[in-house]
Amino acid sequence: MAMIEFQDVQKYYGDFHALKDINLKIEAGETVVLIGPSGSGKSTLIRTVNGLEPIQEGKLIVNGQDLANKKTDVNRIRKNVGMVFQHFNLYANKTVLENIMLAPRIVLKRPEKENKELAMQLLDQVGLQSQANKLPAQLSGGQQQRIAIARSLAMRPKCLLFDEPTSALDPEMIDDVLNVMKDIAQDSDMTMLVVTHEMGFAREVANRVIFMDDGQILEDDTSDKFFDGE
Ligand code: ADP
Ligand code: ADP
Repeated sequence: MAMIEFQDVQKYYGDFHALKDINLKIEAGETVVLIGPSGSGKSTLIRTVNGLEPIQEGKLIVNGQDLANKKTDVNRIRKNVGMVFQHFNLYANKTVLENIMLAPRIVLKRPEKENKELAMQLLDQVGLQSQANKLPAQLSGGQQQRIAIARSLAMRPKCLLFDEPTSALDPEMIDDVLNVMKDIAQDSDMTMLVVTHEMGFAREVANRVIFMDDGQILEDDTSDKFFDGE
């Protein structure tokens, strides 16, 4: 079964038709990049996948559950589908380590010792083990975003959504974050859906590129075909 499947999805903000006839199937393990002009609906689309934005028509099946069905428990979907935001959204008054350990402790009831071991391992993976006891504000934007990624990974999600993860960063920090994302894409079987303007990442790491404009999907191709044409 596909990890994510949109069937004739329509999304409105009041009278404004933000997603028009979206049909899209993303299989488990794919890395898909979503591109398009500002205001074309990329962020809206990605936010529907974990129920941050409701849809008004169609079916949206994520990890086997239809988000259009009122009985679907979005919290159950969010356990398996993480999200990394443009502005990190770390808990400002908690240490880096606590930021990573909090959700698995509360939501998954993961035992403390195992939780801490995994958190330290993830910090190592994003190159920030030495920062475990710092507060987010003591870190650079690029470091904070790598912590936010580690925090998402701590839930062991099946799918990770990225909404312009490098757009708020100073240029010299962008590569550190993209490299972490690249490692994840290559070393795990997690599904990744990434809104980004980083064309190098799209070309090099994504297996598929989707181009949106005016609430519609205009192109959906393998990355090779998208960048190298026919
Ligand atoms: P993108 O991510 O491609 O920049 P968005 O999904 O953020 O596009 O926005 C798509 C369109 O929907 C834009 O015209 C935007 O102004 C509008 N929009 C986004 N969020 C809301 C909202 N909460 N209420 C009303 N309109 C919105
Ligand atoms: P981003 O750059 O992350 O897409 P935006 O600045 O587009 O963020 O939007 C920030 C917030 O404002 C989002 O929650 C979005 O849903 C909301 N928003 C965006 N456009 C509109 C709009 N035209 N009317 C109301 N809310 C909007």
